[in-house]
Amino acid sequence: MLIQCNNLQKQYKSDNKIIKAVNDVNLSINRRDFVVILGHSGSGKTTLLSLIGGLTRPDQGEVRINGQENWQQNDNALAAMRNNTIGFIFQFASLIPTLSVLENVLLPLSFGTSRAESHERALNLLSLAGIADKAGSFPSQLSGGQQRRVAIARAFINEPEIILADEPTGDLDEDTEQDILTIFRDYNQQGTTFIVVTHNQELPSSQNAARVMQMRNGILSETR
Ligand code: ADP
Ligand code: MG
Repeated sequence: MLIQCNNLQKQYKSDNKIIKAVNDVNLSINRRDFVVILGHSGSGKTTLLSLIGGLTRPDQGEVRINGQENWQQNDNALAAMRNNTIGFIFQFASLIPTLSVLENVLLPLSFGTSRAESHERALNLLSLAGIADKAGSFPSQLSGGQQRRVAIARAFINEPEIILADEPTGDLDEDTEQDILTIFRDYNQQGTTFIVVTHNQELPSSQNAARVMQMRNGILSETR
C-alpha cells in the first residue's frame, strides 16, 4: 500500500463552533492509482490533501506513506518525504515572484543532481507543460494559466511517486486544462500515483481508470 489513512480527523474552531473539516477518513491508495476527489467548496478537500502530504498534523488518526507514519518520524525525515516523495500542486499559484520561471521549477530540486542535468530536466518539464519559451520570464509577466503550467512543471522536478493536486485546472482555459490532464495521464501510465481534488464533475471522464470519491462535510465515500 502506497498511502494509507486510518481514522483521519482534523477539526477547526471558528466562532466557538467546531468544524469537522476531515471526519474519520479511511483511505487506501495503491501505486499507480489515479484518485479524483470531488466535493463542493468547504467540504474538506484541501484539508485532506494537506493531511496526506504531511503539511497539516491530524487531531486523530494517521497517514502512512510507504508504511511510514507522517508524524512518527523526525522533522528532517518528514521534510524529505514532502520534498522527494510528493509533488504538490497548490490551489493557487505559489510561484516565488523574485525568481525566474526556470528558477522556480528548479527550487524543490534535491541535492546531488548536477546543474546541467537539472536544467535539462526543468526545461523538458517546461516544454511538456507548453511554457518553455517563458523560462527566463518572471511570474508577474505570465497569465494565471501560464503560472499554473509552471507550478505543474515544478511539481514533477523531483520525479515524485505521488502528485497531490488541489483544483489544478480551476479557472483555466480549455486548452491549458486539456494539456494538463494529458500530462497527468501520461505520468500516471508511467507509474506516478495521483490524488486530484476538484469540483469539476467532468474531470474523472478524462482519466479512464480513475477511482472517484466524493467528499461531503468532511466525510469521504468512494463512488467508482
Ligand atoms: P475545500 O478545499 O473542500 O473547499 P477546506 O478543506 O478548505 O475545504 O475547508 C473545510 C472546512 O474547514 C471549511 O468549513 C473551512 O472553512 C474550514 N477551514 C479550513 N481551514 C481552516 C482554518 N485554517 N481555520 C478555520 N477553519 C478552516
Ligand atoms: Mg480547497
